[in-house]
Amino acid sequence: MANPKRGSHLFGEENLSHYRDRGEKHCRACESFQTWRNFREKGKPGEDKNKEQNSPTSSDECPLDREELGRNSWSFLHTMAAYYPKKPTDEQKKSMTQFMDIFAQFYPCKDCAKDLRKSLKNSRPAVQDRYTFSNWMCQIHNEVNKKLGKSEFDCSLVLERWRTGWKDGSCD
Ligand code: FAD
Repeated sequence: MANPKRGSHLFGEENLSHYRDRGEKHCRACESFQTWRNFREKGKPGEDKNKEQNSPTSSDECPLDREELGRNSWSFLHTMAAYYPKKPTDEQKKSMTQFMDIFAQFYPCKDCAKDLRKSLKNSRPAVQDRYTFSNWMCQIHNEVNKKLGKSEFDCSLVLERWRTGWKDGSCD
């Protein structure tokens, strides 16, 4: 069923000012939902006192905040790595390396993207084969985990997590 909130004159003046007010002055995908909400309520970002774990997230069908965007993006990146060919062609290796550079150029959370570009300078995508690339992606994610004070993931389990499912059968 059509969403009643979606008008047919999507780019009419009324909608454009809505975008200017909310979308252009502030980057929701760059911040936690709480910080975004502080901005909406007080007109400035304010401090996120709840920090990551306890902070509320927005509901479905709303634009993504930094955490939601992060979870969805990591799901995509790790799944892509887990399905990367075991024996990629030179063309595939080149394309994947380019993809990661382009991803880091356009990732909507600007600070995250800046740090990712730094990581990519220090550690170029290891695109030799599926296992190596999945392991590389895991390490890149662990760098972010470390920065955010989260525990590191055991990279020897990365294909169980993102492709085969856990050996105990809990994903079957
Ligand atoms: P996430 O970290 O999103 O992880 C999702 C799931 O992946 C976990 O539940 C776990 O099962 C699995 N997992 C965890 N670690 C690994 C790993 N190393 N390898 C494989 N699987 C793993 N947020 C910021 O606040 N600042 C940043 O600078 C920042 N940079 C980011 C850069 C990128 C490229 C991306 C994609 C996201 C970034 N984020 C950043 C978002 C942040 O990494 C998290 O996605 C977000 O905080 C939500 O975290 P989470 O605890 O739900 O799990």
